[in-house]
This record gives sequence, structure tokens and C-alpha cells, in this order.
Amino acid sequence: MKQIQEPAKNVPVMAETDVLVVGSGPSGLSAAIAAAREGVDTMLVERWGSFGGNITQCLVGSLAWYRYEKTVEAGGIGMEFEKRADEMGATHESNLAQYLDEDTLNYVAPKLAESPNPPPASAPLDTDMFKYVADTMVQEAGITPVLHCLTVDAIMDGNTIKGVITESKSGRQAILAKRVIDATGDADIAYHAGAPYRKSPKDELMEISMNFGCSGVDVSRFIRHTARNLRYIRDWAKETAGKEDSELTSHMVEPFNKAKEAGEIPPHVKLESFWTTATPLGEIKNLNTVDIAGIDATDVWDLTKAEMEGRQRVIWALNALKKYQPGFENARLRTFGSCIGVRETRKIIGEYNITEHDVRNEARFDDSIGIFPEFLDAYGVVILPTTGRYFHVPYGIILPLKVENLLVAGRCVAGDKVSHAATRQMMCCAVTGQGAGVAAAVSLKHNTPCRKVNISQLQSALTKQGVRIK
Ligand SMILES: Cc1cc2nc3c(=O)[nH]c(=O)nc-3n(C[C@H](O)[C@H](O)[C@H](O)COP(=O)(O)OP(=O)(O)OC[C@H]3O[C@@H](n4cnc5c(N)ncnc54)[C@H](O)[C@@H]3O)c2cc1C
Repeated sequence: MKQIQEPAKNVPVMAETDVLVVGSGPSGLSAAIAAAREGVDTMLVERWGSFGGNITQCLVGSLAWYRYEKTVEAGGIGMEFEKRADEMGATHESNLAQYLDEDTLNYVAPKLAESPNPPPASAPLDTDMFKYVADTMVQEAGITPVLHCLTVDAIMDGNTIKGVITESKSGRQAILAKRVIDATGDADIAYHAGAPYRKSPKDELMEISMNFGCSGVDVSRFIRHTARNLRYIRDWAKETAGKEDSELTSHMVEPFNKAKEAGEIPPHVKLESFWTTATPLGEIKNLNTVDIAGIDATDVWDLTKAEMEGRQRVIWALNALKKYQPGFENARLRTFGSCIGVRETRKIIGEYNITEHDVRNEARFDDSIGIFPEFLDAYGVVILPTTGRYFHVPYGIILPLKVENLLVAGRCVAGDKVSHAATRQMMCCAVTGQGAGVAAAVSLKHNTPCRKVNISQLQSALTKQGVRIK
């Protein structure tokens, strides 16, 4: 690639802090709240205008859709997100039976009874209102918030990170920090700091999605039709543990297949719809329908293509729903996600790299910073935590090699391909985020580098914060 040389210039220092968290998805929010609760100065920097990451930008409201009666949960800040959202009117009713008439209820009851586990009943988040929940939690924790601020480089002293360079409407500025937590999802800071990482070839990365929401839906008609056309997880999952096969889902494919047969949508376009939320106001929100493969979301050209292609595919999907899906006849677009939703890019190489074997076999680690239920959902593998099995999340996966005093949380933690099906889940991102926030604070308080943190001190602080360690 042709290059030019930028002239060297002095960069103003906009702030100095103990702990700097970059990125405010489920992992970054958890990291910042956890660090601040340990009493260290904490700053949270986010490139968009609201906190929440995929939740608030990409309409991903299904924080705990996997939760069954026997699921063993991690506790901690991820669960607090749900609780606070519920208290602040930022969740939606999950009981769809209210929209059913007696005939449909009688039709669907025996099918549901056949299912070995009662369907999970966690309330989907109101992804718009969650922006306000996040603001509130950030303020309550005493975090210094910075929005509209993209970090573009790492400030290094040898192998030790000392801060970041940012770009914003205020210009190019530096933030200096004693500890940095990379919660960008894409391991941007680790990458700039020179930490080793891996990234699958782009045709093997998980697809990106443009989620959307509709208004003007006849919700009762839609839910009645859906209840009579429930599908099984085995209809779309390539691999399960067997026990998932007879679980029912409201996954929609027919309207899109009909539109393709009629030549209204190009045959190569993949459309199938998961959705989480129906409201009495005629809204179906958080339609996760458009998946585009072959996109590297760390490449600005690919991102541009994905945004525009994503919106085109949403319009195709909406037209198909209006024509072929009962209840959607008068639907209108309510909202596009504010940006394309990304599931996988860079993953750091860590002190430990969690494996498929670990997440499938209840791995136990001495340096556990939390647990996550045996829930895998990616690459066609669907394993639901119906049994109470869970694995330990080790500290080693948030510790990048070669760079000191940098921790990495969220979907870019260290691990192999299939382990990502578990560690990318928002609740697991909250676990690695909270672990990173507390570890950064403990390392500061005891004046030890992050790599040398005393694990018993870390675990004891996490336990005090309500995290289940073992
Ligand atoms: C369509 C879709 C559906 C999904 N469905 C589910 C689901 O049902 N359940 C589930 O648990 N998970 C689901 N996921 C996965 C889940 O949303 C992600 O894995 C999770 O949000 C990752 O959390 P994170 O904190 O690592 O990153 P993100 O949520 O991606 O947040 C990263 C944040 O960092 C900010 N940022 C990035 N780079 C910079 C920078 N350089 N400077 C400043 N800020 C920066 C971003 O703006 C963003 O706010 C889904 C994902 C998608 C795309």
C-alpha cells in the first residue's frame, strides 16, 4: 500500500487515570463498574454516543435467552444489568401467551409439554432504554465517562502500556493510565500495543448482521401464526448435544424462502429471522435476520460495504415479511441498528488460550475469575445450559502476551474457534470484563503488574463483588 509520512507533533494529554477502559459493551461496562467499585479512578472511553456496545448500537437485547431452570449463573455485574434494566422499565414482557386465543393455546400446549425443559423466560432488554440504564450505572459507580472518542493508538514504554491516543471532535489527544483494559471487541488496543493475536480468514469469521425493528405489526396475528408454526432447534443447528433437538423456536424462514422463489430476493442472500421482542404497541423489535459472510470488520472498506449491504437486505427482508408473514401486512421499519453488528474479529493470544474441550467439559482452573454455563452458540453448534454444567473462566485468557499492564475483556479474549461460541456471549463478556476491572484495581493497590496479580486476592475481591468463582 502506498504510504505518506505524517509530521511528528505534540499531542495534548486530555486526562490521566488509574484504570482506563476502552469500549463500553457488556465487557467494558462491567470492567469500568468493577474497577470503580474497588475505589480506583476509572475512565470509560467509547467511540459512539452511548454506552452498551452491541446491546445499544446493534439491537442485541437477548442477554440471557439461554437461561433454563437448572442453569448455574456467574452472578456479578452481568446479572445486575438485567436487574437494573428491569427496575428501570428497560425490559420487555417475555410471556407471549398473552397474545394467544384459546384455540391456539390448546394447539400449542401439547407441543410445549413435549419439550423436556420449560422454555427459558428471561426478559429481553429494551435496547434503547438500556442506553439510559448504562448512563445511570456509570454515574452511580463514579466513573469518568468519555463518549464520541475513538482510540487509535497505544502509548508504550518498552513493553508496558502507558495510555492511548484518541481522536475526537476535540482533536488528537492522549489519555495516560496506570492500567488499560481493552474492551473494544476487536482487540484494537492490544493490536496497537503489539500484542500477538489471531484472526480467522474472512470467509471463516462469523457473519455480521444488520438488526432491525418494525412497528405497525398486528402482534396477535403474528404470534398466533408463529405459535402454529414453531420449529425445532434441530431444524437450524448443525450440531447439538442431542438434548437440544426437541427444543422449540420461533425462528422464521418461510417468508424469505417464498420471496426468493418469487425472484424478489437474490438467491445467494441468507435471510432467516430470530427475534426477541413483541410489544402491545405493534412492535417486533430486535429482528436478527440479515447475516453477511466474508466481512472483516477491522477493514474500513468491508465495514462500509457491510453497512450498506446490510440495510439493503433489511429492506428485502421487510418486504418479504409484509408480503408473506401474517401480521406484518402493514409493518413499517421502526429502526435499523445504528451500526453493523460484529461477532468475531481479532482474538488475542493469551497466557492461556481456552479451548473447545474446556468449554464442553466443565474445565476447572485455579486462576478462575468466574464461571459461565455450558452455553455454546456459533458455527452451527448449539449447546444449551439445561443441565447446570458450567466451566471456569481463567484469568490467563484476559492476559495478552508481551504487553504489560494491559488486560483484554469481551469477545476478543484468548481462545480457539469453538470456545468463542461461549466466550462471545454477553454474559460471559461481563464475566471477563468484571474480572479485568477487579484485576486492574487489585494490581494497582498491591503495586504488582497485572501478570503477577495474586490470584487469591483477585478471587477474594471478585467474590466480594458477588461473582461466583468456583
Ligand atoms: C446480531 C448479533 C446478535 C447477537 N446475539 C447475541 C445473543 O443473543 N446473546 C448473546 O449473549 N450475544 C449475542 N451476540 C454477541 C454479543 O453481542 C457480543 O459478543 C458482545 O456484545 C461482545 O461484547 P464486547 O463487550 O466484547 O464488545 P461489544 O459489545 O462489541 O462492544 C465494544 C464497544 O467498544 C467500542 N469500541 C470499539 N473500538 C473502539 C475504539 N477503538 N475506541 C473506542 N471505542 C471502541 C464499540 O463502539 C462498542 O461500544 C450477538 C451479536 C450480534 C452481532
